[in-house]
Amino acid sequence: MIKKIQKTDAEWKKILTPEQYNILRKKGTEAPGSCSLLRNKEKGVYACVGCGNKLFKSSEKFDSGTGWPSFFEPYSDEALEYHEDNSWGMKRVEVLCAKCGGHLGHVFDDGSAPTFKRFCINGIVLKFKEL
Ligand SMILES: [Zn+2]
Repeated sequence: MIKKIQKTDAEWKKILTPEQYNILRKKGTEAPGSCSLLRNKEKGVYACVGCGNKLFKSSEKFDSGTGWPSFFEPYSDEALEYHEDNSWGMKRVEVLCAKCGGHLGHVFDDGSAPTFKRFCINGIVLKFKEL
């Protein structure tokens, strides 16, 4: 099991940039196409900027054409948590980091083979580590 971490808002603000804080802690969304990791094709692991939890592998990344980094599978079964999100009049599934509870994005059922899932993730809250 992943050991959860908890921090106060003030502690998060110390370690995150305002943009990262807005997404992870306030469920914000980056502008599509704005993140440099969108076109990253290097081999490696994508981890949470808030806590370092490994979230996705480069081999699970695909180009969805949406402007957000997209993956068809998480790093492991316990890497992520899911919440039903009915905001903005849409029924969506929110994806959160299982370790720090940070908001990452949403998951949809129109993705790439073999899972046909599309994890639509804010790249600003991902930290890429080359392998
Ligand atoms: Zn995290």
